[in-house]
Amino acid sequence: MSNASMVLPPQGETTVPVVGGGSFPVRRIYCVGRNYISHIREMKEADERDPPFFFQKPRDSIVTDGSTIPYPPMTDDYQYEVELVIAVGKQGADLSEGEALDYVWGYGVGLDMTRRDRQRDARAAMLPWEVGKAFDHCAPCGALHRATACGPQAKGAITLEVNGAEKQRGDLEQMIWNCAEILVQLSRQVTLMPGDLIMTGTPAGVAAVHAGDVIVAQVEGLVPLTIHIGPKGSHLVQEA
Ligand code: MN
Repeated sequence: MSNASMVLPPQGETTVPVVGGGSFPVRRIYCVGRNYISHIREMKEADERDPPFFFQKPRDSIVTDGSTIPYPPMTDDYQYEVELVIAVGKQGADLSEGEALDYVWGYGVGLDMTRRDRQRDARAAMLPWEVGKAFDHCAPCGALHRATACGPQAKGAITLEVNGAEKQRGDLEQMIWNCAEILVQLSRQVTLMPGDLIMTGTPAGVAAVHAGDVIVAQVEGLVPLTIHIGPKGSHLVQEA
């Protein structure tokens, strides 16, 4: 179909910058619901041995490094979650653990921004999580490193600071399900495609942020992600 027949202007691509140059085109954003024991305990969730579960964020909720995002509507408990992001580079389904990492294009640092009060409401009412997890600007993502350059991400510090004070600290080796296991599990549910991003869960220390706060999220060896929280009421992102 040519653009001339489109009844509205077509949506643009969503891209994330690549360290060293270039842009990674984003297809879908998957998130692992719980993947560090310390965070499951602070959330008082049921069973630490449950298999991982996945939810999605909208593709156009990606925000890039250095941006200012407005404090969202419908919450008084807007929280950060620092997460390692896996970027998928090729199509695959029903992957085996031995081949799973061959499907990784690269890695980055992401934030699973959450309206915690709405997430808790939805969970209590056994309703879907979208109101708490899938809203405008809820998926900040730092520049992506090629896996061939940064290597597999099996261990290394994962940290988050707000206004210079450390709030979260964990290590990738504390993930209940490692990157290969996450890819295996997700590839049983859906066909993984080039451009898919997977946020892999957060360690303990999640808490609220407010207008004016500056979040710096880091995974050892990867470029950090800095996000500024703007005032409530604006619907516009200011890019760096
Ligand atoms: Mn999360």
